[in-house]
Amino acid sequence: MSLKGKTAVITGSNSGIGLGIARELARAGADVVLNSFTDTEADHALAAAISKETGTTARYIKADMSKGTECRDLIAQAGRCDILVNNAGIQFVAPIDEFPVDKWDAIIAINMTSVFHTTAAALPMMRAAGWGRVVNIASAHGLTASPFKAAYIAAKHGVVGMSKTVALETAEEPITCNAICPGYVLTPLVEEQIPNTMKEYGMEREEVIRNVLLARQPSKEFATTEQLGGTTIFLCSDAAAQITGTTISVDGGWTAL
Ligand code: NAD
Repeated sequence: MSLKGKTAVITGSNSGIGLGIARELARAGADVVLNSFTDTEADHALAAAISKETGTTARYIKADMSKGTECRDLIAQAGRCDILVNNAGIQFVAPIDEFPVDKWDAIIAINMTSVFHTTAAALPMMRAAGWGRVVNIASAHGLTASPFKAAYIAAKHGVVGMSKTVALETAEEPITCNAICPGYVLTPLVEEQIPNTMKEYGMEREEVIRNVLLARQPSKEFATTEQLGGTTIFLCSDAAAQITGTTISVDGGWTAL
């Protein structure tokens, strides 16, 4: 399908899943706005490379998703937002009684509250354009739990709940809102967890991947950023016009267990 003429804003997209989704949306013809909290040459070069490859307009706009005003400014600076992909996210792992308060606050702000701010700013633009798609990147941890990830799991469950509310508020309009719930995807966020887990369990890298990270992913394969891009494009298609207020798992069977 062609997304020509649509503008997509993807939060947290100078790396990992967000960058993968931005590339796939651009390959499908959308103009894209990349984002993170940094403002380096490399960030802008990512956008330039996408423009060059796809012939669409790709821009990079710096905005810190831990700050409500910057979330809203990102959408304002984009100038148009037909497709909003709320993807920015961080992780921290600790037992709840030792969980640092600053980490709790940062995860709730970046992984959940940013979705409130960007959606609030983008919906009027979607209404003016007469079409819109909000795609929230939640997680299998938006539907199930694991120990030591209290903030992340609270935030991701919150995003799933918020997706349902936004869907109900836009139900009679040509706008949908859904959450994609990935299982493990091999991105920098997951890669960073491997060395410590190897030390903790005294395991080789491949053992950590199969027996720890993918322990709950029955396919024993990581989902890919291209697959998440494809799922996002499906949610933007006419075939998905009546899919709203729900979750789509891309988790190799995790939530079937
Ligand atoms: P990643 O670390 O590669 O990417 C995270 C992105 O968020 C980066 O672009 C980073 O710059 C950005 N970001 C972080 N703090 C930000 C801030 N304050 N303001 C703006 N941007 C900020 O991680 P990823 O694995 O690609 O994760 C992307 C999303 O997918 C997250 O919401 C994550 O929770 C979710 N997710 C990841 C997995 C996985 O296995 N990797 C599984 C399920 C869900």
